[in-house]
Amino acid sequence: MPEARPSILFFHAHPDDEAIFTGGTIARLTALGVGVTVVIATDDHDSSISDCRTRRLEAEAAAATLKVDRLEFLGYPDSGLGPKPARGSFAATPTEEAADRLAGIAVGVGATAIVTYDAGGIYGHPDHLAVHRAGLVAARAAQVPTVYQATVDREHLHFVATHVVGHAVEALMQASSADRPEGMLADALARPIDGKLAGGTPTVLIDTTVDVSDVLDRKRAAMAAHVSQIPPDSEVMLLDDVAFAAVYGHEWYVRSGPSTMLDQLTIP
Ligand SMILES: [Zn+2]
Repeated sequence: MPEARPSILFFHAHPDDEAIFTGGTIARLTALGVGVTVVIATDDHDSSISDCRTRRLEAEAAAATLKVDRLEFLGYPDSGLGPKPARGSFAATPTEEAADRLAGIAVGVGATAIVTYDAGGIYGHPDHLAVHRAGLVAARAAQVPTVYQATVDREHLHFVATHVVGHAVEALMQASSADRPEGMLADALARPIDGKLAGGTPTVLIDTTVDVSDVLDRKRAAMAAHVSQIPPDSEVMLLDDVAFAAVYGHEWYVRSGPSTMLDQLTIP
């Protein structure tokens, strides 16, 4: 019997997260023949400026750019940054429910690894925290041996132009100082570095760093496909190639379980 094609499932909170945090890794994996499935939990990130149809079409365009084999939406409403996630939104959904659906997809595609988010949800958005939880539960339920927790390198990003996660953290902090109860924020965000707010994971805790510089054009194109979120005149799209490479030229993970094809992309 021929060996099954390796298959990795990327679980993301919002359309655009897949391109921003893991787009280069996906492009490199698909070039190696790895089957990549992207599952996105929500599809109406900010209903004031876009609708879910727009978001899905943008995600489909990004997925085509990255040569994703299969794109699935769980279809939950975005939970927003209010004091409590809205009823029926993704963060208000029982972890087991979303995890069950994710595990079903993982089994269906024969995933040997699931990519989810770090314990702080990269920057603390309630939907990202929910991705972390459901990703871990789904991996256990589907008996997927390897889990990568996608993150950003907190120290690295401190020294380069602002990553979009920086703006996201600021939005979250503003929302939280207004009405979010103390203690709901990810622990990571409670420790600003030199007055700059921090998300992600400290360098020393990151064991899997992927150099995506050779596929940066496609990562940028995938990010640009999310026009409603990252318009052509946004700060990130106006970065020159050198600055863009400094901020988005690496992708970071913390792995548990056996190594996979993804580890073949890592910087030793
Ligand atoms: Zn997001």
